[in-house]
Amino acid sequence: MGKIRLLPDDVASQVAAGEVVERPSSLVKELVENSLDAGAARIWVDFTSGGSRFVSVRDDGCGMDRDDALLCLERHATSKIRSAADLSRVRSMGFRGEALPSIASVSRFRLVTREASSEAGTEVIVAGGRVENVQEIGAPAGTQIEVRDLFYNLPARRKFLRGEETEAAHIVHGLHGIVLANPSVAFECRRDGVIVAALPRAESLAVRIRDLFGGGHLAKLLEIDAFEGDGLRLAGFVARPGHGRRDRLQQFVILNGRPVHCPAIQQALREAYLGVLERGEHPVCVLHIEMDLEFVDCNVHPSKREVRLRRPETLQRVIFDSARAALVRPRERLARTPQPARAEPVFVPEPPQGVIPLPEDTSLQRTNGISAPPERFRFVGMVGDGYLVLEGDEGLVLLDIRAASERILFESLMRQIAEGNAPSQRLLIPAVVDIPAREHAWVVDHLEDLRIAGFFIEPFGGTTLKIESLPASAGEKEPERLLHEVAAMLRAAGRLPHGRDVREAVARSVSRLAATEKIPDDEARAGQLVGELLRCELPYASPSGRPTMIQFSFAELDRKFGRAN
Ligand code: ADP
Ligand code: MG
Repeated sequence: MGKIRLLPDDVASQVAAGEVVERPSSLVKELVENSLDAGAARIWVDFTSGGSRFVSVRDDGCGMDRDDALLCLERHATSKIRSAADLSRVRSMGFRGEALPSIASVSRFRLVTREASSEAGTEVIVAGGRVENVQEIGAPAGTQIEVRDLFYNLPARRKFLRGEETEAAHIVHGLHGIVLANPSVAFECRRDGVIVAALPRAESLAVRIRDLFGGGHLAKLLEIDAFEGDGLRLAGFVARPGHGRRDRLQQFVILNGRPVHCPAIQQALREAYLGVLERGEHPVCVLHIEMDLEFVDCNVHPSKREVRLRRPETLQRVIFDSARAALVRPRERLARTPQPARAEPVFVPEPPQGVIPLPEDTSLQRTNGISAPPERFRFVGMVGDGYLVLEGDEGLVLLDIRAASERILFESLMRQIAEGNAPSQRLLIPAVVDIPAREHAWVVDHLEDLRIAGFFIEPFGGTTLKIESLPASAGEKEPERLLHEVAAMLRAAGRLPHGRDVREAVARSVSRLAATEKIPDDEARAGQLVGELLRCELPYASPSGRPTMIQFSFAELDRKFGRAN
């Protein structure tokens, strides 16, 4: 006798639920997406106990009539596609017709819904996938779904839920992505009865970011210039230098309206921030991307969170260029009030040499075709512990000599390394250094890349290494410290480093070691420093993301002194 049996419907549903409903946050996501598909202008989310005890999602969307309210609980019942051909052009969040039956099969479920045009609403009560009651009920137009006791009938799954805090954090993080994807929809979220987010409809993404995370967060971001072409559109915000995080939780990428996880996009961001953030840090961002559907496959993951791109290079290039373009001119992003008539400086004596001669090519046609403001600075003086004071076209500028020097050294080293001629200098007496076993292994695996960066090292038995030559700009000083720093940086990268990471780690360490904070001897030298800095590709931040220059715009000064009307 054959061994194969068809699974009873309720068992099949529970199995399928495993894919759609991983944890409370996944059901919140499915329900909120349904509300968005229903055209809601407002959505209310409530949950208690990390969502495993109670979740409610209510909306003011199109609602359902009695027949649909029952039909939506059937597997593969959807109003969003009708044929296979629709699959390739589906723009709604859902289309599989799987979420509601799956959720209802593993919880105590209540649906209340009313179409605006009908007088009475419908209530459907389901437990473990079985419809227990259907009745007419008074209800506001729209839909409310309550889910209680998730996995009550699957104790094994319930055991896999984490603590309340963890589950609540997943819910809230998931909602962050959704609300950033939909600024024009109002959201309210309560956790255990307490409002954790109350977001009015926002006119723009900037306003939504501010409402959600506060003005302080918005101030850490640079708006990128909207891009349109090559079958895609890109807009949004990326981190200012220095605003990275050890995790990617604040990297929000919204592709065709959906928050997604896409390694190809993360890679482009990583490259754009090379030499702007500490190693191991990821830039925060909110990116909105629209792409022709033929280039995106969002059907690779049951909850559609992970997407695959058919031609990632185009998007990667656009993201890289846009982020870089924003990074090279962060000062332009300072509040721009109409420029008042230029006031003569009161406290600042006319500098003896006038305008610092900057090289002609400061208008910077950069490698990637981005130009920075053509800018002139008057040298005013040097103050404190290594600051230059300059006057630019738009305001007073303070320059940190050490940060500037690190940036200049870093870029020149990276250039030399890329061109294959990073100068190296032999040590008079080779240094013999013992380093921890794990770091030793990383170094030994990358001797060739280290050599390309001018760092000649040989294994010397055990965990000992012999340093023969150093990158020239490191001078002869502290070969041991340099090696330790490079090795530690490779380890901090937290995975097998690529060759390029190794070379960057060397450039970073050398520039940190060799950077000067010495005040230039005279104005000509100061001018040279400013000129070199402005010729850098990313002049406004040190390789670890510290600012090199801070501007106080004239408009800001006028405001502070109460001159502005
Ligand atoms: P899908 O979203 O893939 O179509 P679901 O199981 O999530 O599948 O939902 C099934 C159907 O129920 C939807 O296609 C839609 O017609 C209806 N529906 C679900 N939620 C709502 C809602 N909040 N408002 C109106 N209709 C809804
Ligand atoms: Mg759905």
